[in-house]
Amino acid sequence: MLRIALQSKGRLNEKSTDLLREAGISLEENSRRLLSRSPNFPMEVLYLRDDDIPQTVSCGIADLGIVGFNEVAERGYPVEVFQHLEFGKCRLSLAIPKYIEYSGPEFFEGKRIATSYPGILDRYFKERNISCEIREIAGSVEISPSIGLADGIFDIVSSGSTLVQNGLAEVEKVMDSDAVLIGTPGLCEEKMQTVRTLMSRFTSVLRSRGKKYMLVNVPNDKIEEALKIIPSMKSPTLLPLADKGWSAIHAVIDEEDVWDKADRLKQIGAEDILILSMEKLII
Ligand code: ATP
Ligand code: MG
Repeated sequence: MLRIALQSKGRLNEKSTDLLREAGISLEENSRRLLSRSPNFPMEVLYLRDDDIPQTVSCGIADLGIVGFNEVAERGYPVEVFQHLEFGKCRLSLAIPKYIEYSGPEFFEGKRIATSYPGILDRYFKERNISCEIREIAGSVEISPSIGLADGIFDIVSSGSTLVQNGLAEVEKVMDSDAVLIGTPGLCEEKMQTVRTLMSRFTSVLRSRGKKYMLVNVPNDKIEEALKIIPSMKSPTLLPLADKGWSAIHAVIDEEDVWDKADRLKQIGAEDILILSMEKLII
């Protein structure tokens, strides 16, 4: 049986439990419990603050964890990063008041920087031989320059709107982050077998996200042109229709390309374009 640590509340909680459910792993609804067993997969879930997940996994109290890569990098505990999970995407950046001119990372020499990620920031500046004063604070980092606590900040950015609201400008991106599946180094073979099953289920779920299934009827003399418009993952399925001279093409396409491809297919004489949602894509 595997034990996986998930964030108990916060930004990654719902997306982590959604991923497990979509991978066919049922979870008990009562999220107030610290530990709960899946009724249909050899796994129990331990709900923790995200700060505690890297250490809990590193020392083997949990075999696996789902946490932001930024937390893994900050804490520095030895863990295996098994898989990037493509949600919780953000970046960690340096920002300064927008009216101040910025000359490059040397700008920070001798400056005070407020952050909740002192470890990552310290490494960044050591690599560049820049010495500055890092002030660790737990929250509301972005207001520190306006109250005179710091000259700049180092924090998580996604859209950048919080920085703008606080009169700050992003000047250096230090790292990108997304949620990752981490594991205790050196798990036994029996546990690794379950981990591999889990990872291949996650891969299927992630692959089908943002994808649609397209069916389109095309005149036979337009098949080649149509196939150039819809390159498929391997080779699209081609089926003859009862109406001679016509064929149906089935293909998996990116959701964002649906309208563009449909318009171009219609221009070459395609008809009856059907777009279906994709449940699973198991390879
Ligand atoms: P906890 O109470 O568990 O300690 P927290 O307050 O430290 O939670 P959250 O704000 O829930 O953390 O963020 C969890 C993770 O989500 C972050 O470590 C980061 O990887 C990611 N994240 C944070 N902010 C954003 C954002 N604005 N956009 C996208 N992902 C983010
Ligand atoms: Mg936290």
